Amino acid sequence: MTTMKGSDMNERIFNFSAGPATLPVSVIEKAQEDLLCFPGAGMSVLEMSHRSKEFEGILADAVSKVRSLLSVPEDYDVVFLQGGASLQFSMIPMNFLAAGQSADYIITGAWSEKALEEAQKVGTAREAASSAEGGHKRIPRQEELDLDSSAAYIHYTSNNTIFGTQFSSVPACGSVPLFCDFSSDMFSRPIDVSRHGMLYGGVQKNLAPAGATLVILRRDLLDRVPNGLGSMLDYKLMASKGSLYNTPPVFSIYMTGLVLGWVQEQGGLEAIEKLNQAKASTVYTAIDDSDGFYTGHAEKDSRSLMNIPFRLPTETLEKEFLAQVGPAGFSGLKGHRSVGGLRASIYNAFPTEGVDRLAEFMETFRRAH
Ligand SMILES: *Cc1c(COP(=O)(O)O)cnc(C)c1O
Repeated sequence: MTTMKGSDMNERIFNFSAGPATLPVSVIEKAQEDLLCFPGAGMSVLEMSHRSKEFEGILADAVSKVRSLLSVPEDYDVVFLQGGASLQFSMIPMNFLAAGQSADYIITGAWSEKALEEAQKVGTAREAASSAEGGHKRIPRQEELDLDSSAAYIHYTSNNTIFGTQFSSVPACGSVPLFCDFSSDMFSRPIDVSRHGMLYGGVQKNLAPAGATLVILRRDLLDRVPNGLGSMLDYKLMASKGSLYNTPPVFSIYMTGLVLGWVQEQGGLEAIEKLNQAKASTVYTAIDDSDGFYTGHAEKDSRSLMNIPFRLPTETLEKEFLAQVGPAGFSGLKGHRSVGGLRASIYNAFPTEGVDRLAEFMETFRRAH
């Protein structure tokens, strides 16, 4: 089941997709086992009321695993919402950017640009730094951040899914609340929640199937939420109802719990980070040891452990490379259109065997050309 060739329709291949993305095989098997009948419920999780005691248990379990893996302090709420990270881009300014205030956005790629655009539809928001010059190849250094000490909040994207750069440490922000879109590196390494006002992300990159949006929010910030927001856009209401204001994405939350259980079995976030470092290093070594045949998009000190965009010497070679990866048992390697070339997304659940095989393939292809 886990060894893959791609030639047999029933065999799993190595899926390098940026999201939705590969999930742990043991988790899919567990979900399959529970699918006809969730233990004790007489029905599957796809069919049960979100107000049932079984689902209450599933939700409480997912929330408690989020809290324990990330050491979420007591004064933070953990909520599952819908609408993806993209709706958070709008909800954040609607809830936390009052008239007369300004918010700071650290721009490191397409997602942070979108977040800023949405904020500017609501109020005043500015670029506190940008890596656009040169094509988002690096993370701005702390001294390059032009931060407004009276800002309503500072927003950054911890990992840039498209350009393959990643913050290696949390930016220092003084007393201004720091908001982080961690859609594409959540649970890939430890992160200090207490340095953030809020962390959020769509679960479909590094955690679970699409549907849920995870939001971790410092409770005192809820005092800022204005009256009169649409109910579904109101963090205060959503938090007070514990993810159950309306019907939540039950299957995505259930899978979140299973995947977080798998993360715990791997030894937690420190152990997962080591695995991720080793996997990324295999691919970066294949790039760096290629005598310039492969070039990584990101500068070395800004490289992501999750998404690795790279180029070949010509577009013709890139096409040839892509034509050969399917038969080799890989999928999802085509780069994002804004960067071109190739991109290997190797989230938590992506197996070590797959990166080893990709590195071998890259070496064989290089020698043949
Ligand atoms: C994919 C992605 C998004 C968009 O997520 P949706 O859940 O599809 O709205 C936002 N931010 C980052 C960093 C992403 O990788």
